[in-house]
Amino acid sequence: MSGPVTLQIYPSLILGVETQQVEVFDSDLYWQAQQLISLMYLQNGKGLAANQAGLNISMCVIEFDEKLPPKVLVNPVWTGNDEASLPTIDSEEGCLSFPGLKVKVKRAPRYTVRYQDLTGVTLVETFLGMDACVVAHELDHLRGFTFLDRLGPVMKDIQTRKWNKLQKRVRQYNQMMGRM
Ligand SMILES: [Zn+2]
Repeated sequence: MSGPVTLQIYPSLILGVETQQVEVFDSDLYWQAQQLISLMYLQNGKGLAANQAGLNISMCVIEFDEKLPPKVLVNPVWTGNDEASLPTIDSEEGCLSFPGLKVKVKRAPRYTVRYQDLTGVTLVETFLGMDACVVAHELDHLRGFTFLDRLGPVMKDIQTRKWNKLQKRVRQYNQMMGRM
């Protein structure tokens, strides 16, 4: 069993690595999923990929509806069935690995995914609209990409500068607090 999960802030190295497939569906996996869900709630997020919590496994958790338990997607892959010709939608996204940053990303309005549940059963599900955007965001994480990788070069540069500035302010604050 692995230790407690820790939120990974960009540019933590694990965020840039493709995660490993889950092969064993046991109580450890169930426990890890519970840890991800707790961390997601604690951080007030809509979704969380395992590598954002320091776990190198292909699993993410997403809360689609506050009234329902979050969904756990193990080894999720895009089926490639959705028409590329559909007009993209502008998705304004936050990310728990980039606290304070909001990024506008173009996403497909329909996203069909094959994944396994915590017992290893394979499911195929189509997500629409903002749900599709959240799923695509988390699948990107599991492949080692962040929303910055979905931007064109100019926007990527602007957002990276913005992020670096935010990080600098956090460091300055921490130094100041350290001196008190
Ligand atoms: Zn994210």
